[in-house]
Amino acid sequence: MIAPSPGSVVTRFAPSPTGGLHLGHAFSALHAYHLAKQAGGRFLLRIEDIDQSRCHPAFITNILEDLAWLGLDWETPVRRQSEHFDDYRAALARLDALGLIYPCFCSRKDITRSADAPHGPEGPLYSGSCRSLSPDARAARMANGGPYALRLDVTKARNLAGPDLWFEDALQGLTRAAPESLGDVVLARRDTPASYHLAVTVDDALQGVTLVTRGTDLFHATHIHRLLQAVLGLPVPRYHHHALLLNADGKRFAKRDKAMTLRDMRASGRTPVDIRREILARGGTVFTAC
Ligand code: GLU
Repeated sequence: MIAPSPGSVVTRFAPSPTGGLHLGHAFSALHAYHLAKQAGGRFLLRIEDIDQSRCHPAFITNILEDLAWLGLDWETPVRRQSEHFDDYRAALARLDALGLIYPCFCSRKDITRSADAPHGPEGPLYSGSCRSLSPDARAARMANGGPYALRLDVTKARNLAGPDLWFEDALQGLTRAAPESLGDVVLARRDTPASYHLAVTVDDALQGVTLVTRGTDLFHATHIHRLLQAVLGLPVPRYHHHALLLNADGKRFAKRDKAMTLRDMRASGRTPVDIRREILARGGTVFTAC
């Protein structure tokens, strides 16, 4: 069972600088901020810029400006994932020493092409075909210099962690982790030191985050994060997966909803109070403590 996290509440908002912040981000940031402040705790900001091909420094500047304009403040220095690759490599090395990762040479096409591949919350589940390659075959293929990914052997990790794996969510309650539902997720690629799952789990632990707040679209990810925490010996935060704000078409906000970027709303004369009103009008009212 989960030991309650000691100390005061620490939350974070962790945007990826791949575009402007929209109303959905504003809700998520305010949600994390209020949960920390209500509890007399701390609010952190983290820039998730591991994927350098999609992230741009100009968006980081915009994010900081937009959040400050909204009235938020946060602790400095702001953690930028691109400055902490060593932390992710160290976690991978620990998983490797435990025999829990393996290189996978299958392309995305290989995986989607296998017609009978069952689907998980992140798309087709990986069949695990590279899991059984011999050490020699692995070494030979890696020496070829082609691309490969490092995957978590979920079954092995699960066996190591044991069946009694839980996390506490403010809305869903105590939840038994089912990491198998995501299959052998990618933890790194040859040229990328960490996937989202690995970087987020390591960062939340290193930053001392005690209450992870994010949208329900990432609820499934928590199952795998909980497994990583168990095998890496990391503390277990509590979670608050909030409902997603919906746009006028009833769909969740996306970066393509350009008219709803905070920047554009501000340029059109809207104030931070208007933003809060807009969030409330769309049902984003739940600023309750976990
Ligand atoms: N960086 C992620 C995003 O922008 C959020 C990750 C998280 O909160 O765990 O969607």
